[in-house]
Amino acid sequence: MYDYLIVGSGLYGAVFAHEAKKVGKSVLVIDKRPNIAGNVYTEDVEGIHVHKYGAHIFHTNNTEVWNYITQFATFNRFTNSPVANYKGELFSLPFNMYTFNKMWGVVTPEEAEAKIAEQRKEITGEPKNLEEQAISLVGRDIYEKLIKGYTEKQWGRDCKELPSFIIKRLPVRLTFDNNYFNALYQGIPVGGYTKMVENMLEGIEVRLNTDYFEHKAALDALAEKVVYTGPIDAYFDFKLGTLEYRSVRFENELLDIPNFQGNAAVNYTDRETPWTRIIEHKWFEFGKDANGNDLPKTVISREYSSEWKPGDEPYYPVNDEKNGKLYAEYKKLAEAETKVIFGGRLGEYKYYDMDAVIASALDLCKKEL
Ligand SMILES: Cc1cc2nc3c(=O)[nH]c(=O)nc-3n(C[C@H](O)[C@H](O)[C@H](O)COP(=O)(O)OP(=O)(O)OC[C@H]3O[C@@H](n4cnc5c(N)ncnc54)[C@H](O)[C@@H]3O)c2cc1C
Repeated sequence: MYDYLIVGSGLYGAVFAHEAKKVGKSVLVIDKRPNIAGNVYTEDVEGIHVHKYGAHIFHTNNTEVWNYITQFATFNRFTNSPVANYKGELFSLPFNMYTFNKMWGVVTPEEAEAKIAEQRKEITGEPKNLEEQAISLVGRDIYEKLIKGYTEKQWGRDCKELPSFIIKRLPVRLTFDNNYFNALYQGIPVGGYTKMVENMLEGIEVRLNTDYFEHKAALDALAEKVVYTGPIDAYFDFKLGTLEYRSVRFENELLDIPNFQGNAAVNYTDRETPWTRIIEHKWFEFGKDANGNDLPKTVISREYSSEWKPGDEPYYPVNDEKNGKLYAEYKKLAEAETKVIFGGRLGEYKYYDMDAVIASALDLCKKEL
C-alpha cells in the first residue's frame, strides 16, 4: 500500500512526490502521457530542447521557490526579450525606448512621452471598445502596428468588437530595458525541463501511459490518499458540464539551417500572417548543445490561436463568470472527497505560472506532510 497515489507528473505532482518521499512516505506517480513533466516537458530534437507544450520561461520573485527549484537544476541567464515583426519591420518588446526610436525616430524619453501623449488625445471620453482603450493608453501608431493584429488573431475578433476591459494597462517603458518579465529570478534549466523533473522524481516509482480513469478502482486500492492534478471536471465525469479552455496549436519544423530568426520569440503583429508568433527553441539555451558546441540545425514552432473543443489539450483556463461558477460547483464536490486532494492548474482550474504552481504544491506539503 502506498501512502499517496499522485495522478500527474507535472510540476505540482513532482514537487509533492519529492517532498513526500523525503519525509518517508511511499508514493506512486502515474501519468497518462508517455513522458513525465506535464506541460513543461521538453523533447530532445537534434540536441535542441523543444518545449513541446508551449514555450516555458521560468521567472519568479519568490525566493523560497527559487531556492527550491534550483536544487534540481542550474538555471541559465536567459532573459525574455521578444521581438515584434510587423510586415517585415522589427520592433523591440515590451514597448521601450528601442521601440519608440524605431517607430518615430525619437531619441529621448521626453520626446517619446510627448509623442505618446499627442497620439492618445485622439480618444476623448470613455473608451467604448478595445481599440479605443488601446489608443487611449499608447496612441494609434503602437496600436496599429503592435497591438491590433496580434490581439485580433488571439481572440478571433475585431478589436472594435472586443470589450475595453480586456486591456487595463499597457506598460510603456521610457528606458532601454527590454526584459519582458519584471522578475528577480529568471532563466531556463540547463539540460532542459524534463531533466529537472527527472531529478525531482529520482527514486520514485512512475508509471507512464497510465490513465487514472481507465484503472481507477485498482489504482485507488493501492494508496491511502490520492493527489489528483488532472482536470477537475474530468474527475467527476463532466457531470455538471465541461470547463472551457483557450487553446493554442503548434506547428513544429526542423530546419537544416543554424539560425532562423535570431531570437527565441518573434511575435507577428499584423493580422494577415496566420500565426501569432514563432518560437525558435535553441535560443532558450543560446544555440549551444550540452557541451557548449553550436547546434547546426534549428527547430521552430509556429503558434496559432485556436478554438478549444472538448478532447483538445487543455491550455489556458477561461476566467470568465460562466466558467468561474461552474468551477465553484465542482470545487464543492471536490471538497466532499475525503481521500482525494485536487491540485495544480487543471485540478484547481487556475492559470498558474510555474513558480505559482510550485508555491502551491509546497503549501500543500506543509499542510499535508
Ligand atoms: C502554452 C503555455 C505556456 C506557458 N508558459 C509558461 C511560462 O513561460 N512561464 C511559466 O512560469 N509558466 C508557463 N505556463 C504555465 C505552466 O505550464 C504551469 O504552471 C505548469 O505546467 C503547471 O503544472 P501542473 O503540474 O499543475 O500541470 P501539468 O503540467 O498540466 O501536469 C498535469 C499532468 O497530469 C496528467 N494527467 C491529467 N489527467 C490525467 C489522468 N486522467 N491520468 C493520468 N495523468 C493525467 C497530464 O498528462 C499532465 O502530465 C504555460 C502554460 C501554457 C499552457
